[in-house]
Amino acid sequence: MQNYKMYIGGKWVDAVSGRTFATVNPSTGEELGRVPLAGKEDVDKAAKAANEALPVWSKMTQSDRAKAILRFAAAVKEHSKELIDLEVNEHGTPVMLARGFAAAAVDQLEYIASISRGIMGQVLPQSMPNTVGYLQRVPIGVCAVITPWNVPLMMMLSMVGPAMVTGNTCILKPASVNSVLGVKFTEILEKADIPKGVMNLVTGPGGSVGDALATHPGIDMIRFTGATDTGQVILKAASKTVKKCIMELGGNNPIIVCEDADVEKAAKLQAGRHYGNSAQNCSTPGRYYVHENVYDKFVEVFVEEVKKIKVGLPWEESTTMGPMANLQQLEKVEYYIKTAREEGARIVCGGARPTTPPLDKGYFLMPTVVADCKHEMTIVKEEIFGPAAPILKFSSEEEAIKLANDSSYGLCAGVWTRDGSKALRITGELRVDSVFVNMPRMMTPEFPWGGNVKESGVGKSDSVCGMEEFTDLKFICISYS
Ligand code: NAD
Repeated sequence: MQNYKMYIGGKWVDAVSGRTFATVNPSTGEELGRVPLAGKEDVDKAAKAANEALPVWSKMTQSDRAKAILRFAAAVKEHSKELIDLEVNEHGTPVMLARGFAAAAVDQLEYIASISRGIMGQVLPQSMPNTVGYLQRVPIGVCAVITPWNVPLMMMLSMVGPAMVTGNTCILKPASVNSVLGVKFTEILEKADIPKGVMNLVTGPGGSVGDALATHPGIDMIRFTGATDTGQVILKAASKTVKKCIMELGGNNPIIVCEDADVEKAAKLQAGRHYGNSAQNCSTPGRYYVHENVYDKFVEVFVEEVKKIKVGLPWEESTTMGPMANLQQLEKVEYYIKTAREEGARIVCGGARPTTPPLDKGYFLMPTVVADCKHEMTIVKEEIFGPAAPILKFSSEEEAIKLANDSSYGLCAGVWTRDGSKALRITGELRVDSVFVNMPRMMTPEFPWGGNVKESGVGKSDSVCGMEEFTDLKFICISYS
């Protein structure tokens, strides 16, 4: 088993304590590699390196920073096979999907580089004689990027890329279970000839290393994606030094299927997308509200589609759903399925781990459909974050909107209807950051994600809006009278 190092100030280093921990292949339960277990002293070293690199990197022309990111995109493209292998082996992403993520990663970096050259400032209309005022976008400073395990490569890249291109220096802390992928990501970034100290990597568990980042006085911003309760802890820790915090947090996303919808298309497309990445996506629907007159049809087609999913080892080309990323998450989803059964729901398919080799060794769970759910059930109320889809009945538009909005989350929602006015009415009433009408969620670098609704986050990610979050608007006013 290989031992890996962290990257601080342009050097590959062990933790000051010398301690290490292992990451695991979720398909086999076997250890994959050992990485340093960082502590506060390592975070101090990374913060020092990032602060030392900041004056040069932040003053570099936007054109030069954009070119550096394009070099990084080219390096990711050249080494994508290594990244794909790790997505498959350390996260359990089916290889077909991992290839798509790697291609999307390159596209995202190219987008970030190109758009960055047009967003860095604006001149304001004159309101006083003989003065000119302008707003200049300046980097926030040193940014700690704390990523979740669910889409490891895309998460690292979609936060580190915009942070760097806008002139910030970074300290990346990947989810501990994806630490080897974090090392590979950083090795590739090093090949892009980015100046030393601009990107630093520390590996270790959130409770210690993450907290050291959130409280460190030499860090100006936290860019975090993860669970809402972790986000709350970080917000509190970061408040002591008043850091800017951009947080993409949990969701429990409702889908409303109206009586007049193309039910067959809705069921097919939603089921086809629901279980991708083992349904470990923040945008995965958490509850389907289906009109009572089309409910049976929706469940029937949804289940037919789910039965086509090929659960298998993620490195096999035919696999469309791999294991869950870790045992803890698998056990959490099993708990939700168990409570659904106890609370009176009907498990229409799936509901258990596969028992035949080789799938009996890893963290696999069969794709599960839970019908006849009630809004009050635990599986409906909480974020599942795994391959189980609860389906409920509603009888009026008002009821569907009320139930959809009855959540502490507000990340995204979906509406299926053939009636344009109804679509606009419902989308207007839903208290969420994004709504997708007659389609499952679609991702492109141009589309923003997240926002400020309820406990699902603070600030935007992706798109121009997400890049702007990594900057401060400095106002400069000059008299020339
Ligand atoms: P998590 O909150 O457990 O961990 C995320 C990261 O935070 C990890 O790197 C972890 O080590 C670190 N961390 C944990 N405790 C910390 C602390 N006290 N201080 C600082 N850092 C700490 O989340 P997860 O289980 O990795 O990911 C799943 C969650 O992420 C789900 O709730 C999902 O909805 C959410 N998510 C949201 C989005 C979005 O865009 N809104 C996207 C992906 C995932």
